Amino acid sequence: VPGVSGVDRARLRTLLELEQAQFAERNPRSAAAYRSADSLFGRVPMTWMNKTSAHFPLYLATARGAHVTDIDGHEYVDFSLGDTGSMAGHSPAAVTEAVRRRVEDLGGLAVMLPTEQAETAGAHLASRFGLPRWSFSLTATDANRWAIRLARAVTDRPKILVNSYCYHGSVDESLIVTEPGTEGVPRPGNVGAPVAVTETSRVAEFNDLEGLERELAHGDVAAVLMEPALTNIGIVLPEPGYLDGVRELTSRYGTLLIIDETHTFCAGPGGATRTWGLNPDIITIGKAIGGGIPAGAYGLSAELADRLLSREDLDLVDMGGVGGTLAGNALSIAAVCATLGEVLTDKAFDHMHALAERFEAGVAGVIAKNKLPWSVTRLGARVEYRFADPAPRTGTEAAAVHDQELDDYLHTYLANRGILMTPFHNMALMSPATTEQDVDLHTRHFAAAVAELVPTQA
Ligand code: PMP
Repeated sequence: VPGVSGVDRARLRTLLELEQAQFAERNPRSAAAYRSADSLFGRVPMTWMNKTSAHFPLYLATARGAHVTDIDGHEYVDFSLGDTGSMAGHSPAAVTEAVRRRVEDLGGLAVMLPTEQAETAGAHLASRFGLPRWSFSLTATDANRWAIRLARAVTDRPKILVNSYCYHGSVDESLIVTEPGTEGVPRPGNVGAPVAVTETSRVAEFNDLEGLERELAHGDVAAVLMEPALTNIGIVLPEPGYLDGVRELTSRYGTLLIIDETHTFCAGPGGATRTWGLNPDIITIGKAIGGGIPAGAYGLSAELADRLLSREDLDLVDMGGVGGTLAGNALSIAAVCATLGEVLTDKAFDHMHALAERFEAGVAGVIAKNKLPWSVTRLGARVEYRFADPAPRTGTEAAAVHDQELDDYLHTYLANRGILMTPFHNMALMSPATTEQDVDLHTRHFAAAVAELVPTQA
């Protein structure tokens, strides 16, 4: 009997168990490492590493370019690329050399002095994304937190509006989803909220300008914080006119627009902001800009930067709540300069986009051949398949078609054959080091995984 995803559930379960058994057999050292990790909370160095499709994670041995090896000696094509942290590829030569130089030749990893190179890093971001004044953090989460505080301070309004089923890191204000008949409810599973989320936040569906206007009309929203395409609940692309509408409404209601480019950077060398000609007040970004070294940043319009710097009541220098001791450190800055200056170049993006098109075409061919009610969506260098057709147009719709067993089956099947997908969904990202052979390997095994699942149609 086909379920919502168009597959026979009993058959899916049987195949998943077979793949999980094979995974356990193939990876005895990873299994042992997991079993013996008693000093770690949840057996992993970070609790999200328990997001696995086959009961324990693979343990990393080495990673270079688009390839990873695990401690059982298997090699993988890595389409997860650190969930964008390694969009530049693993340890690209220019970043490795810049880091080595900083660490070995120059020294100075935590010093209370800026480097001259920081201006180069800021100038890279300014020329890529269009906003002129930049400040650094170590994570995208912190870039978002600090951007939110600045937006509240400058507008003197209490609330932040986000899209339902967005993800912007562990940012309290963002953990809200829509629920009919309410002004939003906490996102299920939220751990230890400081106050009721409706005190700090408003929520609207992505692609819903009416809902957005209804919320902004309260006049208490300091900023809309959004991804220009949702990328953390599958990819949900903006419909024609939506992003213009968001800009128009935020301006009309005196609300700032913060665009989080952490994932949508994959849209092009200047992210979705440049690709689609957006005009935000603030941009936040993290992960990929450091080429794997922790780095985040936020950019401000000149007018906003001047307004903030002229406010004598705001302590931007010391205890005001917008900063971190290691933020802007010399190593992060060196990595950002190498990544943006030498690795994630215009030419690299051309290569990544062509590969993503090839990946998308391969998946679309398999879906069509098997007449599955699935869809595949591409955003620049990033591709995602989703078990719904047409592709969802809001976060809530995207969340509703989530199918954990099917995710787990495909992830485990592919991992058993040397392919890593992003654990949280069926997402594949291309790096400058990814090749056509890497993409074709995925297409071949994806087709085979589907053929086992729907044998009569294949
Ligand atoms: N913003 C977006 C759009 C993200 O996808 C993420 C992480 N997936 C973050 C912010 C937070 O990044 P980090 O966990 O590195 O702080």
